[in-house]
Amino acid sequence: DDARQNDQLGQWDRDSFLHPSTHLGQHARGEAQGRIIRTGEGVYIEDRDGQRWLDGFAGLYCVNVGYGRQEIADAIAKQAQELAYYHAYVGHGTEASITLAKMVTDRAPDHMNKVYFGLSGSDANETNLKLVWYYNNIRGLPRKKKIISRWRGYHGSGLMTGSLTGLPLFHDKFDLPLSPILHTTAPYFYRRDNFEQNEAEFVAQCASDLEEMIEREGADTIAAFWAEPMLGTGGIVPAPTGYWEAIQPILDKHDILLVADEVITGFGRLGTMFGSEHYGMKPDFITIAKGLTSAYAPLSGSIVSDKVWKVLEQGTDENGPLGHGWTYSAHPIGAAAGVANLKLLDELNLVQNAGEVGTYLNRRMKEELADHPHVGEVRGEGMLCAVEFVEDRARRTFYDPSRKIGAKVVAELAKSHVIGRAMPGGDILGFAPPFSLTTDEADRIVEATVKAVNGAG
Ligand code: PLP
Repeated sequence: DDARQNDQLGQWDRDSFLHPSTHLGQHARGEAQGRIIRTGEGVYIEDRDGQRWLDGFAGLYCVNVGYGRQEIADAIAKQAQELAYYHAYVGHGTEASITLAKMVTDRAPDHMNKVYFGLSGSDANETNLKLVWYYNNIRGLPRKKKIISRWRGYHGSGLMTGSLTGLPLFHDKFDLPLSPILHTTAPYFYRRDNFEQNEAEFVAQCASDLEEMIEREGADTIAAFWAEPMLGTGGIVPAPTGYWEAIQPILDKHDILLVADEVITGFGRLGTMFGSEHYGMKPDFITIAKGLTSAYAPLSGSIVSDKVWKVLEQGTDENGPLGHGWTYSAHPIGAAAGVANLKLLDELNLVQNAGEVGTYLNRRMKEELADHPHVGEVRGEGMLCAVEFVEDRARRTFYDPSRKIGAKVVAELAKSHVIGRAMPGGDILGFAPPFSLTTDEADRIVEATVKAVNGAG
């Protein structure tokens, strides 16, 4: 009976479901059927055939507290029963949304004390972009509107957020990037243009590339610098040593806002509440999403600094209400999930665990694979870990793309029932497990990866 139902679902899936980020033709023809997942518990998920997987990617870097948390499920059910929805326009709120605003700003850096709630990382970045423009319009600087993001950054896949993203896959055939988004050098030491450079020289290069772009365009036209504290989807690349120390003063000098996109790093993935703390950044905006609710319900946010807030306040005093809002801004069910999720993070010490077990995972992965002939680099920070593959280690040559080596390793890994991700930025295998991962489970990921790398040839 189950088998028949599975066949039926598979058929409906191929016939009816236009999937995101999917090879559509292959999927529709049944050449690339994904998993149909039924349940999750801790770091494990189970599909409809009863196969159990260690989810080394926490969904899409988002189920940070792990699957099956009763406290969050109860909070969602209670909220749905008591009040499924009320809006947040013209100053309205719910117990859940107001409580979550207080909890988020209590955890944010000291100079950031207001949060706007949206639904996804993409719409939160869109909100930040509009607020950046609003900010400069209110300050009487209508020309100061260009945004600099980085090659290999990932900030979403809407029109403007896809433009902020610095990965060709998200631009090609969509006519992106749109103006006025510019991209500067990716802080990707391993793949630097000039292999003669040491890390400090490479950082100096990133800084001077940015400053040259600012001077070429005119600082009076540049509104903001948009960046993840460390690159995520573009390859899981920790910021090189000294990078943020070199970038921050350039932004300050030219009156350019810093938007820290912490959709992945927010709420503990690097072992600190925010990645900005980990790297000593001083952002004017922080984008949050995934870890805010551990993906138990869609909710995102834009945290703004006191400096920005003052101008927003002045703006509405002069011009009337902010013309920006979604029906589902601060949705009570998402907010209730967020409150329960942040409580769990505290009660179970999960941020600390992410730092400790993440460090262990990265250390073990390096010990086992850093010298492998087809591994160029093992790198990571906190509960993020990547293995980059090369055809020739000494010359860092890429595999021919037709070899699809990242996807092959992921397929091999699946034979051990461990899930990793072939990162869209190259031949890179990524891990971003739930924060509740144990050292035993980290060992299992490492052992399965070694086997998969050898198996993929
Ligand atoms: N920003 C970063 C850093 C992300 O990693 C992502 C998603 O992976 C986004 C933004 C977009 O978030 P969403 O997919 O929820 O729109």
